[in-house]
Amino acid sequence: MAALRVLLQMMLEIHKDGPLSPHLSGALGNSPRETSSWTSGAHCGLALDNNTYGGSFLYHLDEDTPLVSVGFVIGLDYSNPYLYPFKEFQRFKHHPSVQPTFEGGKRIAYGARALNEGGFQCIPKLAFPGGLLVGCSPGFMNVPKIKGTHTAMKSGMLAAECAFEAISDENFSSATEGLLLESYESRLRESWVWKEIQSVRNIRPSFHSPLGLYGTMLYTGVFYYILRGKEPWTLRNSKADAEHLKPAKECQTIEYPKPDGEVSFDLLSSVALSGTNHEGDQPAHLTLRDDSIPVNRNLAIYDGPEQRFCPAGVYEYVPREQGDGMRLQINAQNCVHCKTCDIKDPSQNINWVVPEGGGVRPTMECNGVSMQGLSLLLEQLQLPLTSSSYFRTVINSVCNL
Ligand SMILES: Cc1cc2nc3c(=O)[nH]c(=O)nc-3n(C[C@H](O)[C@H](O)[C@H](O)COP(=O)(O)OP(=O)(O)OC[C@H]3O[C@@H](n4cnc5c(N)ncnc54)[C@H](O)[C@@H]3O)c2cc1C
Ligand code: SF4
Repeated sequence: MAALRVLLQMMLEIHKDGPLSPHLSGALGNSPRETSSWTSGAHCGLALDNNTYGGSFLYHLDEDTPLVSVGFVIGLDYSNPYLYPFKEFQRFKHHPSVQPTFEGGKRIAYGARALNEGGFQCIPKLAFPGGLLVGCSPGFMNVPKIKGTHTAMKSGMLAAECAFEAISDENFSSATEGLLLESYESRLRESWVWKEIQSVRNIRPSFHSPLGLYGTMLYTGVFYYILRGKEPWTLRNSKADAEHLKPAKECQTIEYPKPDGEVSFDLLSSVALSGTNHEGDQPAHLTLRDDSIPVNRNLAIYDGPEQRFCPAGVYEYVPREQGDGMRLQINAQNCVHCKTCDIKDPSQNINWVVPEGGGVRPTMECNGVSMQGLSLLLEQLQLPLTSSSYFRTVINSVCNL
């Protein structure tokens, strides 16, 4: 199932906006959709090299309350172990077209998560006794658009219809435990969800042509915009993300600018705004299969990439207390549950399991940002969460399905 391990790491910050730069507000308008298309256009060649898949978005969340949601995405099939996704994100905000949006503002929330972008090629069996897979977990996100709320909602609606019919067929009398709702899969295949994810199935795998980003642009132009994804072939992802990492000696180190504390920030002060929390005495949710592998393999060959790909500073190589050499320190308390380490560790030695209580102070999370943390912050700033146009947009999307 190599292709299932193709994921994106997405980092998100919410800022209370400073004064909007005139040229940005003119270029972007206020609708989230316009901001999204502008930023994805602007991003090409902006921060990442042509062989690293990625993108960005910048949403103005509300016309009345000036909030900005900014995100940066990196395909976890990148090859240079020196790449530092969090620092790429911080550097991106200093682009002259982006920076003015954040000047005079205040960062109020931060989060990160991995997105399943295996897409159409990786959809597993959707029904099992007592359960159905809906939304992002089986891979219904439209990968090139990084949009999946509509497909998540539609698959949830189809699942609910199947469940309701199965129960009402039995006059509400049968036991529901272990019910196998096989009609769900055929309904989903007949729905627009299936057509949509099928039509974009080749865009992401086309990135692995020798042309990189340009290959994907060419492919998308010809086979998606002209033929609407109707080509008779299906491209495959050849390797798991972890296998794409090259030994450090074959790669160039990357120098990142220091954060300025206004537009860009250090990692730990960002993690403090993520709203995640773990009880001190809960069982470890991050464990190693073999304690010797981090130093002997990951550090020796890849220069410890877990120090960089973790967007929460969980992994640190520190000098041993006794004797020479280094050891891997795991600051599990910082974990924001993006699951990148489980995916990108080149030795596949890290075992991530769900922490106790979901690990997030209430288990409600939106795009990697804890809603509890965010709502507390908005409360402090006396900004109403429920009046945000972002949430209104989500509600409107549901009504329009
Ligand atoms: C930064 C970012 C921006 C995005 N922007 C857009 C966009 O503009 N438009 C769009 O359409 N899509 C967007 N997406 C994609 C969209 O968010 C997903 O496709 C969609 O949320 C999938 O919905 P879901 O219900 O399947 O999963 P999720 O929304 O991920 O919901 C899963 C829920 O389960 C909870 N959970 C997980 N584990 C546990 C546990 N053990 N116990 C209890 N609860 C648990 C999580 O906290 C979460 O609330 C974006 C994604 C990201 C990360
Ligand atoms: S420890 Fe793993 S799951 Fe937790 S934040 Fe770091 S990379 Fe993500």
